[in-house]
Amino acid sequence: MNLPWLQTIQNDLFVRLQNQQLHHGILLDAAKGCGEEHLIVVLAKAIVCESKNACGQCKSCALFVAQSHPDIKWVKSDKPSIGVDQIREVGDFVVSTSQLLGNKVVIIPDIQRLTESASNSLLKTLEEPNSNTYILLSTTELQYVLPTIKSRCEKIRVSLPKVEESLAWLQQKTDKTVNQQGLDAYSGSPLLYLDALTSDEDLLLLFTGDLEQLLDCNLSPQSMATKWMNHLSTIFTWTYQWAKNEYKTELLANNSQHVLNSLEKILDECSRCKSLSNKAGINKGLLLSQLFNKVQNREGQ
Ligand SMILES: [Zn+2]
Repeated sequence: MNLPWLQTIQNDLFVRLQNQQLHHGILLDAAKGCGEEHLIVVLAKAIVCESKNACGQCKSCALFVAQSHPDIKWVKSDKPSIGVDQIREVGDFVVSTSQLLGNKVVIIPDIQRLTESASNSLLKTLEEPNSNTYILLSTTELQYVLPTIKSRCEKIRVSLPKVEESLAWLQQKTDKTVNQQGLDAYSGSPLLYLDALTSDEDLLLLFTGDLEQLLDCNLSPQSMATKWMNHLSTIFTWTYQWAKNEYKTELLANNSQHVLNSLEKILDECSRCKSLSNKAGINKGLLLSQLFNKVQNREGQ
């Protein structure tokens, strides 16, 4: 997918790669939904490419596309955390000889999911760079990354595009109506918004329906939490948007200090939960049900 807002960073990284000035450890400090995974993939492809530009013609590029390149180590995990065993394998890979006698690449997305021992193991690997091996890391939660890891890498900020750029891009991708309000519901991410627009069910509509049920006490905070656990980060954004609108309405209508305080607490809680939600070992169900409990009792707290 062509993501024009990443083009400048990509061009800069390619130029440095070609001039042999690329840092051996790159850490993408990404805004959620900015598409950093696309950037990491294309950079990895360029690093192993014979022409160092992800040419798409060479043997390396072909192996890359077939996902069978022997000099790429991609650390993937379906679990909430990435353990030390996976990172020890990275250490072994880094010291091994390149099979195609070119560069080697390690890709570790979402490194906030590394356990403490995994982080320490990665740190050791970063401290002993191997001249032809590049370690590409990304996170959307930089505050949970060990400072020592940050200091061993070149940190590159990857931001979301501006609203106008996002809307213009979305208009090329979908026939559906797009607007800033919709974009805001996805924290300004055109990719997350597009996902929602093209998915079969309109999640936001379903969520709004459930939220009404919760507010009317027809749905318990626990049931609501179980139902929405797999959309954690999005739910915190949507609940935040809801609380923000409620706050505005309350201010104009009743102006009850008690309700306003409650809503302020919910807003704080959403921000706190959102940043916690990507951390390893978090009990997602508990986090959500506590928040929904506050939402349901917003007038009685
Ligand atoms: Zn190539």
